[in-house]
Amino acid sequence: MEKISVAVRFRPPNPVDADSSPAGAGGVGDREWRIDDTRVSLLHRVAGPVPGASFAFDHVFDGAATNERIYGTLVRELIGAVVGGFNGTAFAYGQTSSGKTFTMNGSDADPGIIPRAVRDVFDTVRQADYREFLIRVSYMEIYNEEINDLLTIEGQKLRIHESLERGVYVAGLREEIVNSAEQVFELLQLGEANRHFGETNMNVRSSRSHTIFRMVIESSGKDQADCGDAIRVSVLNLVDLAGSERIMKTGAEGVRLNEGKYINKSLMILGNVIKKLSENGKQRGHIPYRDSKLTRILQPALGGNAKTSIICTAAPEEIHIEETRGTLQFASRAKCISNCAQVNEILTDAALLKRQKLEIEELRKKLQGSHSEGLEQVVLKLRNDMHKSELERDRLAMELEDERKLRMTLEQHLTEQQKKLEAISSDHFTDSIQLDALKTPDSKSVPDGFVACRSRYSQDVEFSPIPEDLDNIAHEDLWTCLNKGCVTDLDMLEMTPGLKREASFLQDTPSAVPLDEPTDTRCQRLEKECISDRQKLEESKARCSTLEKECDVLRDENLSLQQELSESKRQADSLLAEKQAQLDDLRAKCAALEKDLYTARQEAHRLATEKQELAGELGTERQKLDELKQDIRVISRGFLQREGQLTSLYTKSKAILENCKTSQVATLP
Ligand code: ADP
Ligand code: MG
Repeated sequence: MEKISVAVRFRPPNPVDADSSPAGAGGVGDREWRIDDTRVSLLHRVAGPVPGASFAFDHVFDGAATNERIYGTLVRELIGAVVGGFNGTAFAYGQTSSGKTFTMNGSDADPGIIPRAVRDVFDTVRQADYREFLIRVSYMEIYNEEINDLLTIEGQKLRIHESLERGVYVAGLREEIVNSAEQVFELLQLGEANRHFGETNMNVRSSRSHTIFRMVIESSGKDQADCGDAIRVSVLNLVDLAGSERIMKTGAEGVRLNEGKYINKSLMILGNVIKKLSENGKQRGHIPYRDSKLTRILQPALGGNAKTSIICTAAPEEIHIEETRGTLQFASRAKCISNCAQVNEILTDAALLKRQKLEIEELRKKLQGSHSEGLEQVVLKLRNDMHKSELERDRLAMELEDERKLRMTLEQHLTEQQKKLEAISSDHFTDSIQLDALKTPDSKSVPDGFVACRSRYSQDVEFSPIPEDLDNIAHEDLWTCLNKGCVTDLDMLEMTPGLKREASFLQDTPSAVPLDEPTDTRCQRLEKECISDRQKLEESKARCSTLEKECDVLRDENLSLQQELSESKRQADSLLAEKQAQLDDLRAKCAALEKDLYTARQEAHRLATEKQELAGELGTERQKLDELKQDIRVISRGFLQREGQLTSLYTKSKAILENCKTSQVATLP
């Protein structure tokens, strides 16, 4: 277990804020912060120390501290650990305009934590030449509780997933494999341009989102015999949080107000998580990591498997005393948290380095002997292509999974609707039978409609709906009155099982009829019964039409669900086809690239052979040249000898001539 390292950094006083302090010009108010190396206390100029406002930390920096010093004290060691396989996180927390971004990014003259960390990672990796490294980076922001990829504008509203192999991760986030600090800086610049900046009264370039810059470092021993198959995978998170703000003070409204609320809410949840983590182990209870995207992403860094440094930035002016006090309380709680960091070694295929190793080895072999200058660049590009297609495949698999789930839900819904529909239809069916039985067709349209055939059950009172005292051939008026012209098939009536209610209603009648009832009274009674029957009929009709309407609604719903389902199926299919095409395209590109590489290697090999041949020829030519030179030397030596002989001959003949001339002169008279 290891405590989180927490420091507090006060920025230099800002003349604008100092002027608005209660005591007016010069910013000298009644209270001020006294800053020592490890302690911050609030002092009242007259009354002395303010009770309950003194805080102790590992390090406290005043406005004179440079980013270099902050980095050296809090982060340098962390970077060494990250390259060695530990997870690491550094983040800046504080109110808007207190210096978080300055601490993380810095200026040209005094670069901040991020650029220094990036350089250090590559320097450390270079020194560890007994290991092979693969580094990839990503850059995201959380804006209004939505995760956006800063390295690509397509990556908006990304979702957090969790798997056994990868832990908590942001699905679909672009990751770029890099092999130099300069490459990372270019990506950071690209990301910076996509960040959401707003303008509040407090800070003209106030950042409105939390940004998380992430480096994933994988490494394995170059000598496999020493290190087995294990690959170390560590994650470095460098986080620049959006600043908390008091809405009254910033004067934010509309979009800015909304953003402010999201920022404050997620910082509040971060505070809650920190508070819970700082509580005594047993009383700790549930840690609400899942309440915000920020805490979910930072989960391993907070009380988990990571080494963590927090820099709490604060404004020294009196008008910010309350915010500064809040920041100091946050920092005090944070320093109580213990993390349990360990080197992450994995043996599964989850490590990208492991998956790419074989392919890279093959490529290396292919490229060996080729004198291509951009060799490293080609390898890097291939690595990135491979990784991208892997990420894309993961994303597609996830989308497909979502689609499948959606389809299953829809299908389930559909089945339920169908069941409902069937239930309603069968009700409806029963009702229609009842309705048919009670229907009163126009008597005039049924010529023999006034004769009811007594059933074979007619002797049995239990089964006969017709009063026993009625004759086989009924009196027409009575029948019209009773049945309104309905021709009743009595056998049918008795045998229809669904007619229980009506049957009992009809069966009730005969038993209630006194045998000696006068015809008038009977007529009146029957009329009344008729009216009541009609009422029941109307009610039944109304119920039926309601059911029919319900049925129609369900049918429409069913239809639209079916359409939705087929549309989603169609979309999933086309998405799949599109992605498959992209994948094929990518594969084709990869294959083309490999082919190019192969051709380049062949060409290089041919050139090398040619060079060798030329070198051979050159050797022969040189030898010949040497021989020629030798010949020339021999010839010139002979020439010199001849020349010497000629000169002496010439001298001799000249002397002879002189002698001759002299003797001639002497012999003349
Ligand atoms: P935040 O990110 O917390 O909202 P910034 O980092 O943007 O705040 O800082 C606000 C302003 O204060 C910027 O102009 C920044 O340059 C300046 N500033 C902050 N901290 C320092 C510091 N330690 N030294 C010099 N200037 C600073
Ligand atoms: Mg900022």
